[in-house]
Amino acid sequence: MYKCKYFSIKELVNPAFLKLTSEAILWSIFDERLLKLADAIREQFGSIIINGGGLTDCGLRQNDSATGAGFSAHKYGRALDLHICSIENKKLDKPAKTSEYEKLRSALLSNTAFNLLNFETNIYWLHIDTFNRQNRLFLP
Ligand SMILES: [Zn+2]
Repeated sequence: MYKCKYFSIKELVNPAFLKLTSEAILWSIFDERLLKLADAIREQFGSIIINGGGLTDCGLRQNDSATGAGFSAHKYGRALDLHICSIENKKLDKPAKTSEYEKLRSALLSNTAFNLLNFETNIYWLHIDTFNRQNRLFLP
């Protein structure tokens, strides 16, 4: 079983979902490759917030969550929304922030270490997932 080096289970799971079962079961729900690559992104780009500061659905969500798509990769432990502190701390408006995240997505897309990841584009955070998608870069 892989547990993140940089993220606690509380940062990765919706608080209501957290109460339903043990940490061991919650860790086991996640795609291990996703957890390892989130740690790798953290090592390359510094501090990252997933859930926290009012955010609760940026990791694993309950199956009946109203957030996002009905069959979102977040409901299967195969997606995380990363907020890179070095970008967040610039306090940019949404278009400028989206542009910063587009640069980051391009860098990750061209790095073979991250070949397993898909990226949602045109958003002002870094969504990564391991769904079996047609295209690695996709629109919301
Ligand atoms: Zn997402």
